[in-house]
Amino acid sequence: MIRAKGLVRLGNTKHKGKGVFAKIDIKKGTAILEFAGKVVDRKWLEEKNSLRIENHSMQIGPNKFFGPSKKIDDYINHSCNPNCYVEIKGRRVMLVSLRNLKQGEELNWDYSTTIWHDGWTMRCHCGSKNCRHIIGNFSYLPEKTKKKYIRLGMVPKYAQRP
Ligand SMILES: [Zn+2]
Repeated sequence: MIRAKGLVRLGNTKHKGKGVFAKIDIKKGTAILEFAGKVVDRKWLEEKNSLRIENHSMQIGPNKFFGPSKKIDDYINHSCNPNCYVEIKGRRVMLVSLRNLKQGEELNWDYSTTIWHDGWTMRCHCGSKNCRHIIGNFSYLPEKTKKKYIRLGMVPKYAQRP
């Protein structure tokens, strides 16, 4: 895996939100950035009961989440046709490119690949041909997509549990 710094910038998306964009061309298989944040559990998120906090958090284990880091990694958007995925190796959680990326491209991952818990859903307007419109946990993905994502190594073990 190639590791590099300074590859991304924060910018505005066409959906009037913030997103993370490639500052330069990035090769397939690059660990683009490392996720951070306070490690919290489901109960903590439920007690906060804040959509903003939940939307800036990510699941990283069966009952383990990164709360908002207030850094650039909070702003990576979902896509149903992603160009990156999340790789969890021990304590390190990295965003890795699935293919070569061009300077200026927005980076995204399929949120469903890291979500195992039930109860969180989000509307999607990513505009992909295969847009699922409602994003939930991994088990709700079409079988074909699940198989493909697992084959490509895009799905942490805990999310694959039935
Ligand atoms: Zn979509």
